[in-house]
Amino acid sequence: MLNLTFDNRFVTELPADPRDDNQRRQVHKACYSLVKPTPVAAPTLLSHASEVADLLGLSEADCNRDDFLQMVAGNRLLSGMQPYAMCYGGHQFGNWAGQLGDGRAINLGEVLGKQGQRWTLQLKGAGATPYSRTADGLAVLRSSIREYLCSEAMHHLGVPTTRALSLVTTGEQVMRDMLYDGNAAYEPGAIVCRVSPSFVRFGNFQLLAARNEHAELRQLTDFVIHHHFNHLESQYAVGSGQIVAAFFDEVCQLTAHMIVEWMRVGFVHGVMNTDNMSILGLTIDYGPYGWLEDYDPEWTPNTTDAQHRRYRFGQQANVALWNCYQLANALFPLVNDTAPLEASLESFQQSYQTQWLAMMAAKLGLLEFKSGDEILFDELEQVLTMVETDMTLFYRCLAQEQLNVESFRPAFYTNELSDEYRETLTTWLAKYQVRLAQDERSHTDRATAMNAVNPKFVFRNYLAQQAIDLAEAGDPSRINELLDVLRKPYDQQAERSAFAAQRPDWAKTKVGCSM
Ligand code: AMP
Ligand code: MG
Ligand code: MG
Repeated sequence: MLNLTFDNRFVTELPADPRDDNQRRQVHKACYSLVKPTPVAAPTLLSHASEVADLLGLSEADCNRDDFLQMVAGNRLLSGMQPYAMCYGGHQFGNWAGQLGDGRAINLGEVLGKQGQRWTLQLKGAGATPYSRTADGLAVLRSSIREYLCSEAMHHLGVPTTRALSLVTTGEQVMRDMLYDGNAAYEPGAIVCRVSPSFVRFGNFQLLAARNEHAELRQLTDFVIHHHFNHLESQYAVGSGQIVAAFFDEVCQLTAHMIVEWMRVGFVHGVMNTDNMSILGLTIDYGPYGWLEDYDPEWTPNTTDAQHRRYRFGQQANVALWNCYQLANALFPLVNDTAPLEASLESFQQSYQTQWLAMMAAKLGLLEFKSGDEILFDELEQVLTMVETDMTLFYRCLAQEQLNVESFRPAFYTNELSDEYRETLTTWLAKYQVRLAQDERSHTDRATAMNAVNPKFVFRNYLAQQAIDLAEAGDPSRINELLDVLRKPYDQQAERSAFAAQRPDWAKTKVGCSM
């Protein structure tokens, strides 16, 4: 047997839906429903992340066992597991959507990991739950590969995120599209086992508040503070308005930090609905996300958002703040005072700004942000948007010692650079050199520091697509190959430079897909 010890605090300490079946329904005065994963016909393990297994205390040998496969496919429950789906709501694209919940995610239980950490295991795509509404509760290989690889890539980049333990195909076909001729299109089904200290979202609080279920709201909030923000209990009285306000303040800070990290690496989440906001400030729910290739703050990978571009790259901090505002509204009944909540929203903005400036200074290889540098950053943004420029490649080029327009050739998506552009970039580089000279730092030290914050390898949209195409054609080997490259995103890995290449032309209009 796999040696995993479970301690399912979420189900033992919080109010449950009185029924325990997978029938779709509205669930009141409850934080979760007990459910059963739907067994699948013929699961195959395509990949597992050894580092994540290790966090749980599982060895390589464990991951190659059949009971591991059956567990991450939802076919076998280990003793101590108590599967459940969480009840939450959310604002979708700015509108209150009511009850959403885990419609295609099932938490298996909370594992006591190594060194006392605790990890919730969650299967995404393991069948319908009471929260599945009109959908099937399943996931397809395409979106599962994207989630699996991207969450691990983000972790190795140093961005706060949920993790992924495994990727399996189910051996079943999932219907995803009706074709114009009326026939259904099927895709291979898959399941990712996600791993996180908690999967609680802003929307868990919002739904209870929206329904005026204040006793349950209180229980959930006390629970999250007690288990995930425990240090606050030594500073504030448990159950007080102050502790809830202090908790909210920390959530704001964690969220601001997460967004700064997205901006650093060029990640666009694509669906920052409040149900997709982790209470721990972790990147969660990898759907139609994308990576900036040509630097364009207006870009969103989400085709359903193409018109309003609510969740575009350059808007992510504002949206996160708006989402924190919604969380403040949800927590208000427990605080009963707007002043501390407003102060936290205010400090979100200050903290975001301070961290963003420090992050940009680091990307440029400056020892620290100095007043006046913001002009350099603004002008760089203009340079980057004047011609199609690959963000990731640009910053790696910027770490070279001699800098001129030609230094950035690998980053340009065009061969034709106008005189105006050449002049603008040359002028900017001159200012940059002057600024660099103010820091007493050797070129080697600067380059080393820059290459530790400016990744060489990100999970480019076309890399995902290639891995998907190969896997759908029966060759899943690219998945492990990419997982391995993305483990060391800041290293040269010269022999793997092909995975750091510019987006090919065919990928230009390809965008992320979620369902
Ligand atoms: P998302 O846009 O993926 O964050 O999903 C929004 C809501 O729809 C969540 O409550 C999901 O659980 C639910 N959902 C998305 N896809 C499915 C599906 N295939 N089956 C059931 N529920 C789904
Ligand atoms: Mg979601
Ligand atoms: Mg999703």
